[in-house]
Amino acid sequence: MSEDLTRLSAAELSTLMADGEVSAREVTEAHLARIHDVDDDVHAFVLVNDTDAILEARRVDEARYRGEELGPLAGVPIAVKDLLTTRGMRTTCGSRILEDWVPVYDATVVAKVRDAGMPILGKTNMDEFAMGSSTEHSAFGPTHNPWDLDRIPGGSGGGSSAAVAAFEAPLALGTDTGGSIRQPAAVTGTVGAKPTYGAVSRYGLVAMASSLDQVGPCSRTVLDAAMLHEVIGGHDPHDATSLPEPVAPAVAYARQGMAGDLRGVRIGIVGELRGDGFQQGVLERYAEALGVLEDLGAEMQVVSCPSFAYTLAAYYLIMPSEASSNLARFDAMRYGLRLSPQGGPVTAEAVMGATREAAFGPEVKRRVILGTYALSAGYRDAYYGSAQKVRTLVQEDLAHAWEAVDVLVSPTCPTTAFRIGEKVDNPMAMYLSDTATIPANLAGIPGISVPAGLAEDGLPVGVQVLAPARADAWIYRVGAALEAVLTERWGGGLLDRAPMLGTPTGGAR
Ligand code: GLN
Repeated sequence: MSEDLTRLSAAELSTLMADGEVSAREVTEAHLARIHDVDDDVHAFVLVNDTDAILEARRVDEARYRGEELGPLAGVPIAVKDLLTTRGMRTTCGSRILEDWVPVYDATVVAKVRDAGMPILGKTNMDEFAMGSSTEHSAFGPTHNPWDLDRIPGGSGGGSSAAVAAFEAPLALGTDTGGSIRQPAAVTGTVGAKPTYGAVSRYGLVAMASSLDQVGPCSRTVLDAAMLHEVIGGHDPHDATSLPEPVAPAVAYARQGMAGDLRGVRIGIVGELRGDGFQQGVLERYAEALGVLEDLGAEMQVVSCPSFAYTLAAYYLIMPSEASSNLARFDAMRYGLRLSPQGGPVTAEAVMGATREAAFGPEVKRRVILGTYALSAGYRDAYYGSAQKVRTLVQEDLAHAWEAVDVLVSPTCPTTAFRIGEKVDNPMAMYLSDTATIPANLAGIPGISVPAGLAEDGLPVGVQVLAPARADAWIYRVGAALEAVLTERWGGGLLDRAPMLGTPTGGAR
């Protein structure tokens, strides 16, 4: 039984618990057991929160027994990306510099999942300070893709997506600055959604690039992502960029999508995101997904966004610029690691230098240097200023697109999961993984990646749905419609086809 519980979706677990078929404690224990079974191989977690997770599950069971009103996800356990602060629980951001840092406060999204009665299973591995597309830049070693342990699970949130793919958690929280929720979802055969900028609070999300960062759900189904979106979304007075609006009706729209009718929905195919640099098998699955959308009654047309040719370049100026400023707080003085310089006088500057030299990894240093350079006097207008102009062009292209279509679609990632070590010394090759995801961050719009089957190499492919800012519900509607048909076509759970994941005895699905 305990193994079978890990195969169920959050929505299914929620129903079983509400009906008294199973307790929150059994559900949480099943997932912890699964983590202890497989995480030596996958390494999705950097911290497992056994005792507190079980205590929380018991609290939910007691509240249910007393007849208290509980939210739909009460008792459904969750994994949390280690970039989000958790009170009393170590938060490393994948960096040596925060190796032993225990925050005194919860991120708003963490407080919200706690209030919803969701036991926190642990903290998930990530590229250091969310810089990367493979989770190889973690100071604590890479996470492995459950589809093939020699391959990357995407990044920076590879830990969250791998945990969900490997049935270690039904849900996880991720963060997406340039694709770190959607790209790992695509290469692990799971679902990942990036909400509209400001729709979910960033308070307690350790900042990489503040104007791009956004928290969002990782799951195995679109409905589950929508359920989690409704828990974490909404206005937060602690975040000055938080939208003063009610949470999007994500669940209602996901259910509408599952019913399988997209008549009247206008879908734009992004002309710039389909040819050069995209793997053959990715394009095949994408073409198939376009056919599905059309069969469901959507009106399809090709839309052009010429500015997308410059988004990668603009991102790699804006993101390092903001990161170089945000990471200045890791100065060995206020918190985190502090190391003494080897020889020479022990001045504040020497301590800062020695600590940052030893405790930041190469990718973080590369970006801090790049960002500092791009913001320096004499270069600021040429680099940072030009990048901001591209950002405006992207917004204009999209504004134009929204006059003709309700949502846009593209492949999520140009390739399937690459091998561990293949791109780690070639930053440019790594950066190309985010070509299709970055425009949404530059424009602040919502996007979701939905599994679209397997490529010629037997590895999962994701298709991305983008919607206008504040229209988050639409990504769930179109995503769920696509998922319903493709799940059927691929014979149920795609993850059951992953060699190490195969259906457990008595398979619940
Ligand atoms: N892979 C992208 C980067 O390296 C995106 C990271 C993210 O979204 N956190 O910057």
